[in-house]
Amino acid sequence: MSELIIPADLLPADARFGSGPSRIRREVLESLAGPDSVMGTSHREPPVKHLVSSIRSGLAELYHLPAGYEVALGNGGATLFWAMAAACLVRHRSANGVYGEFSRKFARTLQAAPYLADPAIFEATPGSLALPTAVRGVGTYAWAQNETSTGVIAPVARPVDIDEDSLVLIDATSAAGGVNADMAEVDAYYFSPQKNFASDGGLWVAFLSPAALARSADLTSSARWVPDILNLSMAVDNSQADQTVNTPALATLTMLEAQVRWLLDRGGMNWAAHRTATSSGILYRWAEDHPLAAPFVRDPGLRSPVVVTIDLDRSIDAEELCRIARANGIVDIDPYRKLGRNQIRVGTFSAVDPADVEALTACLDWLLERIRRR
Ligand SMILES: *Cc1c(COP(=O)(O)O)cnc(C)c1O
Repeated sequence: MSELIIPADLLPADARFGSGPSRIRREVLESLAGPDSVMGTSHREPPVKHLVSSIRSGLAELYHLPAGYEVALGNGGATLFWAMAAACLVRHRSANGVYGEFSRKFARTLQAAPYLADPAIFEATPGSLALPTAVRGVGTYAWAQNETSTGVIAPVARPVDIDEDSLVLIDATSAAGGVNADMAEVDAYYFSPQKNFASDGGLWVAFLSPAALARSADLTSSARWVPDILNLSMAVDNSQADQTVNTPALATLTMLEAQVRWLLDRGGMNWAAHRTATSSGILYRWAEDHPLAAPFVRDPGLRSPVVVTIDLDRSIDAEELCRIARANGIVDIDPYRKLGRNQIRVGTFSAVDPADVEALTACLDWLLERIRRR
């Protein structure tokens, strides 16, 4: 059987639709090799400090950070921040929303910490949502704003009736930069930049409230052993000096800074949220209208604006569809590997042009017509 070649005039201008790492704007990639690039220079000198300073101030502006909040960053990505939170932010016990692989991984990290009680788990099957509610003796509440493995979006609001000094930790890895949230509702809003911030991996960023800063200062000076790389208060001290504890990836910082400025220049989070809602809306409508497709997330209120999951009819082999799409240059529409569904998953992050999403639906129409006939 000869390979299917999608007509060139149907193809998106940029056909990278991954849910992370995700599309990086080409101008930004080119700037890494340009005359103003910091690549190959010391991270302890003013040009890189200016870059980190611009990232911190730009993010504070983007999310209208309340007075007293800090923007901290360091190496290791959101996964490292989970370990850091287990070391520096959870005192006795947490309550976690678990509704997919990423929210589960943080709960597992906390469960494995020998000095913490097992977390109180609020669990829902993939495609739906469970949020933690007030539990006695729990001082930390955690969930993911966007569950990247399933495409479920969660509200960001302090649970009612929790203890006054409780912390709310939001994994915003695939939400930040594409979905808005009120930081007054959160004590740690953390993410990696390879999703909506159209940069590369390896870095974590966190917005920290005064209560989170105080908890960390307290736990890192207690009897609990905290290695330097997991010491959040040390990371905050370095961040305040526009530095990181150890050597950062300069390309990741450069591309993150460019994307933060790009978003601010276009109208900030309102603009970004409108754009991701437009892109995802095109796909959800397409899936609802196509006889061989359906949105995986049943409840329209839980459908993510930044990661769109679409189930395909049994007569279509999604794996084969993704393989043919890739051969045509349309990459990374594969489902999350462990979810195990006959599905595609499309990142509609803020760097993605809605016109490219429109073009993707035309390509999917074209492919579905032909794959079924074979
Ligand atoms: C991608 C992702 C992570 C993991 O990020 P890393 O940078 O690979 O550590 C964690 N949580 C969510 C919600 C994600 O989407």
